[in-house]
Amino acid sequence: MSEISFPGIGRDILRKDVFMRIAIELSRLGTCPRKAVGAILVRDGRCIAWGYNGAPAGLPHCEDNNHGWVLQPEYREQYEDHDAIEIENTMLSEYGCRNATHAEANALAFAARQGISTDGTTLFVTVAPCDVCSKLLIAAGIRRVYYEEEYRDPAGIELLKLAGIGTVKQEFHGDT
Ligand SMILES: [Zn+2]
Ligand SMILES: [Zn+2]
Repeated sequence: MSEISFPGIGRDILRKDVFMRIAIELSRLGTCPRKAVGAILVRDGRCIAWGYNGAPAGLPHCEDNNHGWVLQPEYREQYEDHDAIEIENTMLSEYGCRNATHAEANALAFAARQGISTDGTTLFVTVAPCDVCSKLLIAAGIRRVYYEEEYRDPAGIELLKLAGIGTVKQEFHGDT
């Protein structure tokens, strides 16, 4: 075999490993401390757009607004400080971060801004998409989704499957 690959791993698997590694590297730029996620969109073996999760440009970061769950001042004044914080934290653990834009959504938004077609592309993402992102991915014509980790809510993956989009929990070969 003349192709360069490391022992026991074919070219196709090597390529997927590299793309997932790029997504993992990108996740390091994520700004929500609850979960760092990276995503890249691939067409014909090239990355055409990428994203990571974080606060929308120019808006407060997750650590500054408790992931979007800081109570409105007029509501907060009805409570002692520690009660208000408890309410916020309960909402956060129940519903998760509502401040950050997810990595996949950021990748799609970048493509939209730049006029890059996402139709028929493949997504590599470090955590399986949520239901909201899955709807965006379906609408954007994504054909396949490789993910490294399950998301706490499987609804997104179920939606993708229903829409006929290939979903693969990728076994990452890491440093081999
Ligand atoms: Zn957050
Ligand atoms: Zn999402």
